[in-house]
Amino acid sequence: MPELNLADFERDALETLTTYAAIPCLSPMYDADWIQHGHIDRAIELLYDWALARKIADFDVQIRRLGERTPILLVTVAATAPGDGTAVLYGHLDKQPPLGDWSEGLAPFEPVRRGDRVYARGIADDGYSTFSALLAIEAMEANDIPHSRCVVLIEASEESGSPDLEAYLDDLKEHLAKVELMICLDSGALTYDRLWVTTSLRGVLNVDLTIRVLEQGQHSGSASGVVPSSFRILRELLDRVEDAATGEVLVAELNAEIPAAEVEAANAVAKEFGDIIARGLPTLEGVELMGASAQERILRRTWYPTLSIVGIGGVPAPEIAGNVLRPYTTATLSFRLPPSVDAESARDALIPILTTDVPSSAIVTLENWSIGSGWSSPALAPWLASALEKASLDAYDHAPGFTGEGGSIPFLASLGKRYPDVQFVATGVLGPHSNAHGIDEMLDLPMAVGVTNSVITVLGEYASHR
Ligand SMILES: [Zn+2]
Repeated sequence: MPELNLADFERDALETLTTYAAIPCLSPMYDADWIQHGHIDRAIELLYDWALARKIADFDVQIRRLGERTPILLVTVAATAPGDGTAVLYGHLDKQPPLGDWSEGLAPFEPVRRGDRVYARGIADDGYSTFSALLAIEAMEANDIPHSRCVVLIEASEESGSPDLEAYLDDLKEHLAKVELMICLDSGALTYDRLWVTTSLRGVLNVDLTIRVLEQGQHSGSASGVVPSSFRILRELLDRVEDAATGEVLVAELNAEIPAAEVEAANAVAKEFGDIIARGLPTLEGVELMGASAQERILRRTWYPTLSIVGIGGVPAPEIAGNVLRPYTTATLSFRLPPSVDAESARDALIPILTTDVPSSAIVTLENWSIGSGWSSPALAPWLASALEKASLDAYDHAPGFTGEGGSIPFLASLGKRYPDVQFVATGVLGPHSNAHGIDEMLDLPMAVGVTNSVITVLGEYASHR
């Protein structure tokens, strides 16, 4: 029997979680004045107060700050089981921006509950994590299930690529002590009927590519045909890195061989669920998707490098577009990288390709790099493999699922490097229609309860196997 049910979660978490969901605590990349605005501070103080009210016998709650970096919430819980290992539970409280107008009746910072789902920005990515982690530990103590020393670490710069996390990990090196298990509560799920364990994550590489040709815009009637269009040069440069017909990323350093085990796992998921990736997308009727099969689409999403142009600068909106040969164009390039590609090597490979022999000798700059390597799960220790099996069966009455994710959690790559022998569990509530980063973000409450119960089982098995 699971330790926690939906009513417990509603009673102990929902009010504060909903209050949190109403705070526009955008990640610093999307709110340069986050210090003045104070939303992140409000959010972390809210979570701090809630954490402090947990019925946990011996624990310490802190808001830690390093200079002008975003703060972290750190909850340290003393072990109730023998052993000197630490389990780290990770989540984040910063949010993506709203993206655009939300659907009828929904708004990013006005939480709405429909059935067992609550809609608001940041509620699933990753607001629930603090609640899940601490409710799990609280329930263990209430039910006399011994646990190891646990450190719950909730950061506030994840959606900006975790630029502040390394400094905190350095700062906390001694405090974290002997880390043996990492549970990351910021990942995805393919369905809501089982625990999903993430086997890999893609890396990410973002950069603003600007092409300048004029000191100021000119009447296109007088300059076009003479001054090269910055947009046309952008197209040429993009053609160096991406096949415009197929979307294939042409830079060798950004490609990787897909491990046979991952191909097999994708096969198994495709067999059970069919074209699950295609089904989850709001594709317009008639639009043909990339990839020839369900299995290929799973791999395309998790192991292929891709380029998305996520922002354009120097280009007016159509309503106010005059006949001007514009002085510059900026494109925000957002690459997803295969899990095994090193993001710094990818960046080093891209720089000369985009800045050497530029057409018409236009002035090219690359600015605002944001990079993070992907991650491949280390092999599961036998105790953890059976703990995950038990966790999913107890919480969902269904064996766990294993799959790669297309998104990125740079934290896992840096932790993987820092703690190579540590066992990792990356899981989360971001299933179909959870719309993290999109409009209408949603938390499925039973899924949050299932993940919380799974955390209880995994922490319990970790404490007892040693
Ligand atoms: Zn997240």
